Formats: sequence, structure tokens, C-alpha cells
Amino acid sequence: MFLKIGVIGTGAIGQDHIRRITNNLTGAKIVAVTDVNAEQAKAIVQKENLDAKVYENGHDVINATEVDAVIVTSWGPTHEEFVLASIAAGKPVFCEKPLATTAEGCKKIVDAEIAYGKPLVQVGFMRRYDKGYRALKKVVDHDKIGEPLMVHCAHRAPSAPGFSGDMALTDSFVHEIDVLRWLLNDEYVSAQVILPRNTRLVDKALQDPHIVLLETKQGIRIDTEIFVNCQYGYDIQCQIVGETGIANLPEPSSVVLRSEAKLSTDILVDWKDRFIDSYDVELQEWINSTLKGEMNGPSAWDGYVVAVTADACVEAKHTGQIVPISIPECPSFYKKDFTLV
Ligand code: NAP
Repeated sequence: MFLKIGVIGTGAIGQDHIRRITNNLTGAKIVAVTDVNAEQAKAIVQKENLDAKVYENGHDVINATEVDAVIVTSWGPTHEEFVLASIAAGKPVFCEKPLATTAEGCKKIVDAEIAYGKPLVQVGFMRRYDKGYRALKKVVDHDKIGEPLMVHCAHRAPSAPGFSGDMALTDSFVHEIDVLRWLLNDEYVSAQVILPRNTRLVDKALQDPHIVLLETKQGIRIDTEIFVNCQYGYDIQCQIVGETGIANLPEPSSVVLRSEAKLSTDILVDWKDRFIDSYDVELQEWINSTLKGEMNGPSAWDGYVVAVTADACVEAKHTGQIVPISIPECPSFYKKDFTLV
């Protein structure tokens, strides 16, 4: 049995997901695609030799009778509309982040899904599927370092073409916001943003780097450096300090080279390479769950919590204040235990 998927948006990540579903994963095939750039959609159908129809717009993909489930990989501001339309059509939908560009938009999706009565939405927070983060979570869940007290993170990218305004927080840091509450089984209560000296290598209008300080309900303090023009590579760090030990996110595997009087390893430069396996696992698990009529990944509620937290970070950046984060009680519809066995 195949899950017949329609893809809305055939840009960078849309093409990547089409390629992996067609060539690497099992249990699904792409039967419909669309993009505002129709030529681009046609080109990917040809390139991957898909037996898929190219539709004029996202709503036609969602309503196509041959489409069982939808993947939304279009531009962020279109996500809310396509996810709401998928829920209205009763079709499971995998939406790349952001679920919506505003917390209100995410809440509308949460309300629509609850009203529909069955979970249909998964958000593309792929770090939860990364082997390293899963290993780190097991260490925490199995009490190997006692209770977590502090977390030190870094999110560094060589450059951030097209970034403006607060995108380092709303586009990059959102991955930490999601994965850290999942890792710690905790919620945030406040955010503060510190603006260090700016790198000279970006336009003066773009602040880079940022330091974000988050506090959780249990009093855990998290500091994250977000430096999206660090030049040297794509480097994701996470260290959890517990009562009895320290756990570090493993480095991606790389050959350790002894040569010319140097001991060296490569550092990745592309986020797609760093999380390539996570995207495969994420989509395979989504396909498997969807075929069983289940939804087990990051939910619309998780998308909403991330949006509320990101809004607080943006406010903290612009006011210089410690901004309280008030996350409403999670509806029972979405309650789940994040502990890994
Ligand atoms: P992209 O290369 O710009 O692709 C987006 C595509 O959607 C473009 O081809 C765009 O066409 C098309 N599009 C825009 N509005 C549309 C509409 N109404 N209907 C159909 N297609 C439409 O961007 P991307 O890097 O693939 O990112 C897409 C989304 O995925 C973003 O929300 C991004 O944040 C997210 N993302 C997530 C991750 C992750 O790690 N989870 C990684 C990358 C991206 P035009 O170019 O002609 O406007």
C-alpha cells in the first residue's frame, strides 16, 4: 500500500523531500505537485521521472482525489492557508516550519484540528529525528546525568543569504526552541536576548550574532549563541549540564586525519548535509504513521508553542527586557509523553 502524496512548493526543500520520498524511502509516492513557478514543478517531475500531475495551485493539489496526504514546502506565509485547507479536506498534512508566521495563525490551525477531531498535522522539526539528539535525549530520560540544570547551545551557519530583520530568531533559532523543550520535557517561562558586538562581515542593518537566554518552568537556564554568518562552517552544539554529569550532542562523524603535522577533521558547511539522515527518518516515520492513520511527530501544538516563544524572543531583542512566556495548558488532544524508550 502506498501513501499518495501531493507536494505544494518545489523549491529547495520541496525538491529535496520529493527526491528522498522517490529514491530513498518506502511506502509512498508523489502523485501531484504545484509551485507558483510552474516550470520548476514540471522540471522536478521530469528530473525524478514522477508519475505525477502538475496542478495550478495548492488548493487543487489538496482537493485532488488521487492525493491521500499533503506536504507543504512553499514559502512560509502560505503555510497557514494550505494547512487549514488540508484539515478542511480531512487530509493528513506535513508542513515545513513555520506552521504559520504568527502565533495567532498557529492557534487557528490548532483550533481547526481539534474541531475536526483527529490529529492531521505534523510540523517539520527534523532535529527530533537526528541520531545525535535522540542519543542525547536518552541520556537525559534515563537519568544518566541527574536532573538537567543548564544547557549551552550554539547555532552557527557560514552565511545566511536572504536573511533580514529577526530571521536569525524566527527562521534559525526556532529549531532550538522546538528541540530543547522536547529534550528537556519542559516548557519555557521567559526569554532574554543579548546583542554582542556585530560581525563586520554583514550589512550593518542585520544583527549577528545573538545570545538568547531561556528559562524553563523547572528553572533550567539555556543559553544559545546564534551566529548565522560565522564563515567557518555549519556547526550545531548542545551541552546539557546535569547534577552528576555533562552530556554533549555528538559531532557528525568525520575522518580524523593525521597528515602534514596536523590532526584534523572536516566541519560541514551545509545544513542539508548535517541533517540529511534526520529528514529521511522524519519523513519515513511520517509516512509509516500516516498509513496507520496515526500522527506521532511534532504537532500543530508544538508549532504554536514555538511561535509563541519566538515572538517573546523577538520582543526581548527589541526591548532589551526579560519577556515572560505564557504558554497555555496543552489541550488533552495533544498531550503526549516525550520520553524515549
Ligand atoms: P524556496 O526554495 O524559496 O522554495 C519555496 C517554493 O515555494 C518556491 O519555489 C516558491 O516559488 C514556492 N511558492 C511560494 N508560494 C507558493 C504558493 N502559493 N503555491 C505554491 N508554491 C509556492 O524555500 P525553501 O528553502 O525550500 O523553504 C520552504 C519552506 O521550508 C520555508 O518555510 C522554510 O522555512 C522551510 N525549510 C525548513 C527547513 C528545515 O530544516 N526544516 C529547511 C529549509 C526550509 P517562488 O520561488 O517562485 O516564489
